[in-house]
Amino acid sequence: MSSLPDLSKLKPAGGKRSSKRERIVDVFLRQEGHLSADDLVDLIRREDHRLSRATVYRTLQWMVDAGIARKVDFGEGRTRYEQSYRQPRHFHLICKSCSRSSEFLSSDIETLIEEISAARGFSASQSVVQIYGTCDECRTGRSSTTAAMGHTDLVFARDALRIAIATEKSGLDFYTHAARITRDARGRKIFHDLAQEEQEHLGTLEKRYRELLQRDPQLESRPTFLFFKGAANGLFAEGRDRLLEGVNDQQALMIGIRCERGSHRFFKKYGERFEDSEGKQIFLEFADEEREHLDLLVREYRALVKRQGRASRPPRSGRTSATRASAR
Ligand SMILES: [Zn+2]
Ligand SMILES: [Zn+2]
Repeated sequence: MSSLPDLSKLKPAGGKRSSKRERIVDVFLRQEGHLSADDLVDLIRREDHRLSRATVYRTLQWMVDAGIARKVDFGEGRTRYEQSYRQPRHFHLICKSCSRSSEFLSSDIETLIEEISAARGFSASQSVVQIYGTCDECRTGRSSTTAAMGHTDLVFARDALRIAIATEKSGLDFYTHAARITRDARGRKIFHDLAQEEQEHLGTLEKRYRELLQRDPQLESRPTFLFFKGAANGLFAEGRDRLLEGVNDQQALMIGIRCERGSHRFFKKYGERFEDSEGKQIFLEFADEEREHLDLLVREYRALVKRQGRASRPPRSGRTSATRASAR
């Protein structure tokens, strides 16, 4: 089970230490999903009937200010609260029959929101996506694992690892093919070495994934939280297809550069956006690895152009473009 945050660190400036408050926070953090203030009052009164409604309300507001709780509005005319500590902002599916909700995150939806906002010259500060309908359980009468449940830090880490593993696999596939078709001996060796490195990283990630599964026997079957359609097949899949069209050595390196740059930017952008969590760490570590590959490929591209002459188009340097990507 996920461990509770260190509350002393979360205390907002001027907050007084209060055992009442700590008890309320403790009850809140043991819940999954989205509670109304009255739900929380009921839960707390079960444990301690002396705590007043006003204290619970005040504490909820304190938790919002402290970054422990986040307000969500499902259009029912009352505010609900969910945990925000170590939980990235996400979207919701809300069942009209049982009014339970489940959560997901999608890079594709976020990209679309960014594109639309940019096209209108609109500076978006927050987006809320709520999907209303009937949940699987209410629809079929069968109890299901996708039933309303807040996601956990572990599910988030699992999904982050799955995406990193898919990327690593597609990278391995890409470099294996690139090594096969490259005629220049040194270029071939670079691709070969990168394939080997991807293989090692893949082993490390898969080990980490197995370790994660040991912390929760049902983790594998829990519903997907992170939907990254573009990344699901691996960010190098498109590059591999282009290799198969028949390219020269310089073009092969250039395709590798584009894939690594895309991958680095993807993991960095989302890693930075996530709240502090294991999933965030996985994304940021992976972004760093991709950055090293990118820099290596850019150096090799330049060296190859020197040996062979005539660059078709010089690549932008990895460093500059990465800095630009992170500055956004
Ligand atoms: Zn339902
Ligand atoms: Zn939520």
